[in-house]
Amino acid sequence: DKIQEERLKFLTDNKGIKAVTLLFSDLEGRLHMLDYDKKFLVKSFDNLTFDGSSIRGFTAQRESDLRLAIDWSAFYLGPADIFGPGKVLVFGEVIDKNGTAYSGDMRGVLKSLANEMHEKEGYTLNAANEIEGFLFAGVDAERKFPETGRFDYVNTGGYYHSLPGDPLRSFIDTTAEVLRAMGFENEKDHPEVAPSQFEINYGYGEVVAAADQIQLYKLICRQVATGMGLTASFLPKPVVGVNGSGMHTNISISKGGKNLFWDPKGEEKLSGFAWEFVDRVLTHGNDICLLLNSSVNSYRRLDPHFEAPNQIKASAVDRGSMVRIPIGNEKSSRVEVRSVAPDSNPYLVLYSIFKSGLHGETAKIANLRQAERYLPDNIYTALENFRNAEWTTKLLGADVKARYGDLKQASADRCARLLGTYVKAAEVQFH
Ligand code: GLN
Ligand code: MG
Ligand code: MG
Ligand code: MG
Repeated sequence: DKIQEERLKFLTDNKGIKAVTLLFSDLEGRLHMLDYDKKFLVKSFDNLTFDGSSIRGFTAQRESDLRLAIDWSAFYLGPADIFGPGKVLVFGEVIDKNGTAYSGDMRGVLKSLANEMHEKEGYTLNAANEIEGFLFAGVDAERKFPETGRFDYVNTGGYYHSLPGDPLRSFIDTTAEVLRAMGFENEKDHPEVAPSQFEINYGYGEVVAAADQIQLYKLICRQVATGMGLTASFLPKPVVGVNGSGMHTNISISKGGKNLFWDPKGEEKLSGFAWEFVDRVLTHGNDICLLLNSSVNSYRRLDPHFEAPNQIKASAVDRGSMVRIPIGNEKSSRVEVRSVAPDSNPYLVLYSIFKSGLHGETAKIANLRQAERYLPDNIYTALENFRNAEWTTKLLGADVKARYGDLKQASADRCARLLGTYVKAAEVQFH
């Protein structure tokens, strides 16, 4: 097609470009990168294969050969001081032997949903994510936390507090500059509530591009931090007793440039269409919690004392609710899903929210939007809800559902075992 032709010509014409980094993500959202020599890629882009068996959550050994297809519309120039000289980044999709989208590649699954909704209904699915993180010192080069179990804040600030020359401020400024150079539409940035915590906001985008940008954003933050001898962390609750890090996910749907979530006469100025979407997301709030909060650590964050939600309800004011309705206008009207953790798979997060909101059910619960229903407070309960729900089978298919459940079971059990070890170590130390 046209865009492919243009990009191939761009690669060939630009002598400074040496290599193309192809990005894709495993089922848990871990980003994978393959570097192709430019000349090889230009010749062989329609015949790229890789071994899927070494990617977590992908195929079993016996069916390990998968193909990668390049999405030429997801094309980014990599600034040299971050990615090395002469690099271009492009996202790919995983295709199985038969040439169909691979069910474990959530980018492809999300894209199919977006395309289907566009073809059938004329909808464009939009998302904007507010990704919070921490900047730490004292974590060694292998990213192992020091044996003392301690790491250090780089500043003691808090919301909006920062001085020129402060390491957190320098980190935010450099990251913002890299994002700008890569075509992100920066809006604002600031130190967040907890010491050493940050948030950088950029403009909303079509859902697949928005998920790609989450992956790039985290990669860039980590890279900039490492360059400063520091560590960027997207763990949802790295420090007890202060705010954790969320990834508030702002959602809207438009049609022909018109925001379908806006209605100046509607409740909270949201349309009936938007409220039906919200009702279905609330209905499935427990079913999909594990997909939005995929790590053991996520469940420590879901505490309203730290501006993170624990209730499955919708509110314009209460930040303890899973869904908040921010003040909006014709353009910016949206719903904010607050229960999302920044270490979850962004493709899976956006897919689960949109699919539930568009195609889910509405529970016959009295006063659904304000009912006393709670999110799980630990991963085992979340896992049980996820496995017991019929909806998650419809969402993912039985195979991917089982594989995802197994991965989460394994990490929960690993943590439980480790915790046991720590408890024993503490007993030795203190008795
Ligand atoms: N850090 C909070 C959370 O975990 C959000 C705080 C905020 O953005 N006001 O979701
Ligand atoms: Mg924010
Ligand atoms: Mg915030
Ligand atoms: Mg927010």
